[in-house]
Amino acid sequence: MRIQVLIPLPLDGPYDYLVPTGMICAPGDFVTVPLGRRQVTGVVWRAAADREAPPKLDPAKLKSVTARLDAPPLAPVLMSFVDWVAAYTLAPPGSVLALVIRAPDALEPPRLRTAYLAGAAPPARLTPARQRVLDVLLDGLPRTAAELAQEAGVGSGVVKGLAAANALTTVSRPVDLPFPEPVADFVELKLSPHQADAAKAMRAAVAEAQFSVTLLDGVTGSGKTETYFEAIAAALESGKQTLILLPEIALTVQFLDRFAARFGCLPAVWHSEISKAMRRSTWRAVATGRVRVVVGARSALFLPFPDLGLIIVDEEHEQAFKQEEGVIYHARDMAVVRASLGKLPIILSSATPSLETLTNVHQGRYRRLVLPRRHAGATLPTIEAVDMRRDKPEAGSWLSPPLVTALRQNLTKGEQAMLFLNRRGYAPLTLCRHCGHRMKSPDSSSWLVEHRSLNQLVCHHSGFSMPKPKACPACGAEDSLVGCGPGVERVAEEAARLFPDAQITVMSSDTVRSPGQAQDILERMNRGEIDLLIGTQMIAKGHHFPGLTLVGVVDADLGLGGGDLRAAERTFQLLAQVAGRAGRDQRPGRVLLQTYMPDHEVMEALVAGDRDVFFEAESHERAALGLPPFGRLAAVILSGPDAGGVERAGRALARAAPLAKGVNVLGPAPAPFALLRGRHRHRLLIKTARSINLQAYLTAWLSQVAPPSNVRVTIDIDPYSFL
Ligand code: ADP
Repeated sequence: MRIQVLIPLPLDGPYDYLVPTGMICAPGDFVTVPLGRRQVTGVVWRAAADREAPPKLDPAKLKSVTARLDAPPLAPVLMSFVDWVAAYTLAPPGSVLALVIRAPDALEPPRLRTAYLAGAAPPARLTPARQRVLDVLLDGLPRTAAELAQEAGVGSGVVKGLAAANALTTVSRPVDLPFPEPVADFVELKLSPHQADAAKAMRAAVAEAQFSVTLLDGVTGSGKTETYFEAIAAALESGKQTLILLPEIALTVQFLDRFAARFGCLPAVWHSEISKAMRRSTWRAVATGRVRVVVGARSALFLPFPDLGLIIVDEEHEQAFKQEEGVIYHARDMAVVRASLGKLPIILSSATPSLETLTNVHQGRYRRLVLPRRHAGATLPTIEAVDMRRDKPEAGSWLSPPLVTALRQNLTKGEQAMLFLNRRGYAPLTLCRHCGHRMKSPDSSSWLVEHRSLNQLVCHHSGFSMPKPKACPACGAEDSLVGCGPGVERVAEEAARLFPDAQITVMSSDTVRSPGQAQDILERMNRGEIDLLIGTQMIAKGHHFPGLTLVGVVDADLGLGGGDLRAAERTFQLLAQVAGRAGRDQRPGRVLLQTYMPDHEVMEALVAGDRDVFFEAESHERAALGLPPFGRLAAVILSGPDAGGVERAGRALARAAPLAKGVNVLGPAPAPFALLRGRHRHRLLIKTARSINLQAYLTAWLSQVAPPSNVRVTIDIDPYSFL
């Protein structure tokens, strides 16, 4: 018999193999097969006879499957999912399969440990210690030597002695860690009427066990998490597995505590930083259905759930769900696909849903549940714009008089405040006062950012860093290099000058290097040990600080520059999230946005608290331009070590683009970061009507052109990053 085996490598498709007589292989089985001189793991994808045309390969040259592995087979739905994601992203199916096999050692048979049962006859010499060991074994459960010694309160020598005297029977037992079972009704929360209505609808969707998409659209602090916990409870009650996707690992820690408080134990966790042993145990426990709830980053979407009954995507608008390297995919969108293939409900949760999701709601494809009010009577904060053209900060400062006054009042009242600036370091640009030279990264087209705490100039794109030189490298003038503009470090310096008695803490990826450090800051904040928290987007989302009543946004205009089609949407979402940190408990919150564009639609919508008006205007604009979600978009990025070669390849590719109605090919143009980690980059954008099969167009086009071998071509369907 002949089968096709998909190998988790970037090959063009499954390869044919023969099944040796006596071996039985079915689709989904994990197997070892020879590939060149290596033995590799793969998955039986289908019987070769399924294919229409027989392969041209001489059957005599076909190699045989080496072994079938003792691992739970991949469910048909997961195989369809791999094929679907590959076809959509135009990634090799093997590369997508590699996302499924992220714990290759989980495919090996579970490691066994020696354990003991009582033997047929007691030993000739029966000491009290030996008797205690035998007593422990009366219940008939196998125990390891260490467990036995501990339970019987004897030294391990006693157990060994018994074994040597043939008074114990040896058995093997798997070492895999057990996972605790979340309890659906461990704690039942009293829900508000709005929460209860939403929870009821979501429970019904779980009970229906059909594909459905629900947007849980609740203002910041409305208790979305508590509400969708009810859907998880319903899945637990019906014996189904649940997957919860979070955009960032940093958000997991707080989430785990809340989960444990509701369900009595921690869920399984899946992200890039868990240990290898944990990865193995978790993968296997998911595959065998022993894990009921997994919370994870986007890669958790590819775990081999045999009995998934619910997917939740929290903070569904987050760009962090877009995987930008390797297989380039959007985890929220692929989660909807996974739910559709598996015929199960999915819940998208956000206070600031994406335009994509809102459009799906308006077009009737997604259902929407609304939580219009904050939990326990807390009110939404008031948001004001500070017109920086009028209320100018003093020279060399970044905080305007109204913001300084508000901060002072807050500190006097003993309430907490937060300053948000989405810029790490001290100053985003270092300039020579003498000749105007700007300090640039040597291998990327970006400015070097001064980090005064490290005394370094750092490239945030490639990680390059160097000490700040004493003399300008261009003109040699000494002490002439000055930092321009503020980063969080500089704002912290100004705040410390203004409020010398305040406890000020900076939270950015430079000051927080582990989840533990983040947790530490959050706990100090909750204990009221921090008066003023200054930070980047790390402080913007998810956190619940009951004592925080004032939020200042240092530069509300920051995200609006550049040619990103989602700049306005993203700025609105980010600022609404930051604003949503204020006044979540008893005392009302106030938010000040420092802006040079108080008339910009984003600022006006935030101040008026009118999300719908903003999204309507944004929809019209995108629809008029045929941009997503009203049209399709793909980016083709060419990169290589030689600038001229990349540019020529880009032009050749553009010339070869087939003419088609409803398809616009834009470019090639140098990417905004035309040089990244030593590679030159040019980009083409392909914009099509929604009715066009973008993937088919790209495949037909790209198959006709062979760029030089030192130019890499990357396809990004639905691009979110335009750098
Ligand atoms: P959101 O995610 O919508 O911003 P959260 O889920 O963080 O809001 O809820 C805000 C706060 O209110 C949290 O501390 C949460 O534990 C609490 N909360 C929400 N709903 C309830 C409820 N029904 N019972 C008890 N506490 C709740």
